[in-house]
Amino acid sequence: MAKTNKGRKDLDSYNIKGTNKTVRVGDCVLMRPSDSDKPPYVARIEKIEADHRNNVKVKVRWYYRPEESMGGRRQFHGAKELFLSDHYDVQSAHTIEGKCVVHSFKNYTKLENVGAEDYFCRFEYKAATGGFTPDRVAVYCKCEMPYNPDDLMVQCEGCKDWFHPNCMNMTIEQAKKLEHFLCSDCSSEDDGKQSMNGFPVSPNSEPKVETKRRKR
Ligand SMILES: [Zn+2]
Ligand SMILES: [Zn+2]
Repeated sequence: MAKTNKGRKDLDSYNIKGTNKTVRVGDCVLMRPSDSDKPPYVARIEKIEADHRNNVKVKVRWYYRPEESMGGRRQFHGAKELFLSDHYDVQSAHTIEGKCVVHSFKNYTKLENVGAEDYFCRFEYKAATGGFTPDRVAVYCKCEMPYNPDDLMVQCEGCKDWFHPNCMNMTIEQAKKLEHFLCSDCSSEDDGKQSMNGFPVSPNSEPKVETKRRKR
C-alpha cells in the first residue's frame, strides 16, 4: 500500500520503461552500467519510491560479480555466479534494463536450461573487507576445490566424492560416456579386495595387506 513520508511515496511496483515487465520489491534486476562496455549490474530491489515530482527511485542491494570482488574471479566461480553484497544504493528506476533471477546454488544446479537471465548466489560478500559468508564451503575431488556448477563432475560409486574428469586423467567426452565410475583411490582399493577374494588369506596375513593398502 502506498504511504507518504516527506513528500515521498512508497510504490509497490514499477514498470520497466519500454517493456511490459513489472518490478516489485524483492525482485532482482539488471541495471545499465555507466560504462556501456561492461555487463549490466545486478541488484535486488529493496524499496521503490516516487518523489513529489514523480521521479521513481529504487533502493537496491548490489550483487557483485566475482571479478568485482577483492579476491577476483577464482577457478571455482561459475560464469553466472554473484555475491550478495552489503552495499546498498539509491538509483533512478530509469537505469533498470530488465529482470533476472538469482537462484540459490542448489536450485541453479537443478535447472534444465540456464537462460541469460539466470544467475546464482551462494555467498554473501562484505564490500569493505572482501569477506565472504560462509567463509568455508565443501570441497571435492583430488584438487580439493569447491564445486563450480559449470564444470562437469563425476561421482565415484565407492567414496561418493565428486571428481573432475581432468583430475582423473579423462576427457569430458570419456566421462560423459561412463556408466560406472570409481576414483583412482577406490579402484585401487577395489583391486586390493579382489585380490584378497581371489587368494584366500589366513587371518595372520591380513595385517600385511592392510598396511600395504593404506600406504599411499
Ligand atoms: Zn579436480
Ligand atoms: Zn572413490
